Amino acid sequence: MALAFDEFGRPFIILRGQEQKSRLRGLDAQKANISAGKAVARILRTSLGPKGMDKILQSPDGDVTITNDGATILEQMDVDNQIAKLMVELSRSQDYEIGDGTTGVVVLAGALLEQAEGLLERGIHPIRVAEGYEMACRIAVEHLEHIAQKFEFGVTNIEPLVQTCMTTLSSKIVNRCKRSLAEIAVKAVMAVADLERRDVNLDLIKVEGKVGGKLEDTELIHGIVVDKDMSHPQMPKHIEDAKIAILTCPFEPPKPKTKHKVDIDTVEKFQTLRLQEQKYFDDMVQKCKDVGATLVICQWGFDDEANHLLMHRNLPAVRWVGGVELELIAIATVREGGVYTPCILRGHRFLAGLVREKSFGTTKDRMLYIERCANSRAVTIFVRGGNKMIIEETKRSIHDALCVARNIIRNNSIVYGGGSAEISCSIAVEAAADKYPGVEQYAIRAFGDALDSIPMALAENSGLQPIETLSAVKSQQIKDNNAYCGIDCNDVGTYDMREQNVFETLIGKQQQILLATQVVKMILKIDDVISPTDY
Ligand code: ADP
Repeated sequence: MALAFDEFGRPFIILRGQEQKSRLRGLDAQKANISAGKAVARILRTSLGPKGMDKILQSPDGDVTITNDGATILEQMDVDNQIAKLMVELSRSQDYEIGDGTTGVVVLAGALLEQAEGLLERGIHPIRVAEGYEMACRIAVEHLEHIAQKFEFGVTNIEPLVQTCMTTLSSKIVNRCKRSLAEIAVKAVMAVADLERRDVNLDLIKVEGKVGGKLEDTELIHGIVVDKDMSHPQMPKHIEDAKIAILTCPFEPPKPKTKHKVDIDTVEKFQTLRLQEQKYFDDMVQKCKDVGATLVICQWGFDDEANHLLMHRNLPAVRWVGGVELELIAIATVREGGVYTPCILRGHRFLAGLVREKSFGTTKDRMLYIERCANSRAVTIFVRGGNKMIIEETKRSIHDALCVARNIIRNNSIVYGGGSAEISCSIAVEAAADKYPGVEQYAIRAFGDALDSIPMALAENSGLQPIETLSAVKSQQIKDNNAYCGIDCNDVGTYDMREQNVFETLIGKQQQILLATQVVKMILKIDDVISPTDY
């Protein structure tokens, strides 16, 4: 791209390969961008809320995903429009920062874009719209702090946390078991949380799944579950007070690389080589025994002969355990004072009260449970379910619930859900609009209307009349001056979200509004779209 000047000194841009590019400018560019963003939001709109619909997505290689999680839907959709990609990024950032509210953030951004379109048509400059949105966003975020409440819970009183996780799970496919899954998620987070420092390391929670059984069989294990079995069927399946040798180095003698050649032309040479290999392996086994190990967990494999030897020398072993799992096992089983150094044979420092192999159903599926670990901070949530899709969706839902519990431990302020917080912000924003004399007040009012689209979508998805329900709820909020009235999606019979126990974290809601506003402002500021033409 180069900037040139014509004979009157007016600048113009020369694009290389001009004929191959298409270009949209000014209002056309903004309108095209807005409609791309709106299209993405429209897809997610029907998935919002407890009665939201699920989507089925098929990948090019035939894998099927069923979900109503906004971030996952967008992740799996193959969008190639730049603005649509921005919306995908938007829900990804919400997922990254907060872990929940990924659908809501996109729906809100879509509504903001739709309102902006109307304003642009009325001749308001995009920058003024962007500025108005910015002011309104600030008002809404501050207002959320006013209506937020402190949420009390403790180690002995986890019920409030369970209730919050249940709100998140109620909009997912797994809502049949929301109570038990919420309890599992909260217990897992409490097990790894450092309540004094208000810190939760979600890496210590492993979510593992296996097809089979029922969703109700999902359990929390204070320890690690690995999808592996003992390397030999005759090895013990139940080891009490295991002393584990964790090997990140290969158990076997080093194999020649492709560049090297081993010349064996006589039987003697072959036998020497074999004996040497055996000796190497024997030494390794002896080393493990010397440090007192009663179980070897190995990152690499070993052949059947070695396996046989291990069985004879009475040293149970597990092979091909992934690096991440190995690390988790090490963290969980490392004895106090012991140091975990990868690649070094330090069997005696890793202790587990019980290591057992468990088989499932009539299949030959077996898993290894490492429990009663010396340092029991790492836990595993073991998901069961009828098919792979359910397991994957359950894992995603549990991830959301874990994030919600973590967010509350980090910051225990909450706002009520069901669109009540949005309605309350919308009232506050519209009231504030009157104080601004400039053109921005139109944008501020439009922001308020966009906030209303969340409760509207919730009502619509629950089969209610959107406009009537919204006006009923809004007028009740104004009449009673309470910010807890929201959409009664499940037909409980009350608008009061406090009674329905539907709440979300304050930081999650604030983040939704901030991120959506940021993206919409960015889209509004684009007035030139230069892209290669499709042939
Ligand atoms: P997200 O991916 O954005 O979290 P969800 O599909 O989980 O989207 O929907 C969340 C929305 O549904 C929130 O606005 C929440 O307040 C609302 N919600 C969840 N459960 C209920 C309920 N029982 N009654 C009313 N609203 C609910």
